[in-house]
Amino acid sequence: MPELPEVETVKNELLPYVVSHRIAGVTLIWEGIVKEPSAQEFCSRIIGQEITGIERRGKYLIFSLSRGDLLIIHLKMTGSLLIGQDSSELPKYTRAVIHLDKDINIFFRDPRKFGVMRLVKDTSGIDSKLGPEPLEASFTPQVLADRLAKRTAPIKAVLLDQKVIAGIGNMYADEALFAAKIHPLRSGESLSQEEIKRLHRAIQRILWAAIDNKGASVKGTSVDTYIRPDGTQGRAQFEFKVAHGLGGKTCPTCGTPIERIVVRNRGTYFCPKCQPERTGLY
Ligand SMILES: [Zn+2]
Repeated sequence: MPELPEVETVKNELLPYVVSHRIAGVTLIWEGIVKEPSAQEFCSRIIGQEITGIERRGKYLIFSLSRGDLLIIHLKMTGSLLIGQDSSELPKYTRAVIHLDKDINIFFRDPRKFGVMRLVKDTSGIDSKLGPEPLEASFTPQVLADRLAKRTAPIKAVLLDQKVIAGIGNMYADEALFAAKIHPLRSGESLSQEEIKRLHRAIQRILWAAIDNKGASVKGTSVDTYIRPDGTQGRAQFEFKVAHGLGGKTCPTCGTPIERIVVRNRGTYFCPKCQPERTGLY
């Protein structure tokens, strides 16, 4: 599933192809991909507008358009945006095509059909769902400490809550907790100041490294694998220590077998020795 580093990569790699280009047409192969407004209004309103920029907020892509509309796209589980031409063969599982001028197409490919597009006037619909951006300078250890205070849920579940921090999903939550040596079932409020500092550092380091590696294309489900706009795969998965069981069967630090548990329905990988359930403080 695309998380912050994958969505950031999509944004970065789409930008040079689409900015300053006019939307010449839209083909909705599956109308259900448009959630707001009606499919008909979506098409009539968006055609003729120029894309003036793309921003990322959490796992959302926000395209600014020249007549003041915003096109908000969420890739959800299996969505990807591919760049192609009119002559390109339609990628399998393409649900919509946004045709730009100068023979540039954005193919919205989505095998499982969870991805969505919305044409809106402002970001109020997503602002209330999202906590702070973890890579912004304003996201300090103190901000993280404030977000974790009074959270009795397991830290793994807290990190996945987009209202607490925006953009982190299952893979990078496991990687960050491993790097910070924190057991995934510890409650948010139980973390010490030192552990919060370690977690803060780990979140930023792991997300930046994954962006440098253009996101993670997890193998094993070849159809559902995240792909970059040019059709190639990311490389961040090769640096995973525990996430998705990709890091090997033993801990790279101590050699203990990696364990898998389920936290709030999400497969969770960790090292029981490096990430003890209880610290000396408790
Ligand atoms: Zn270990």
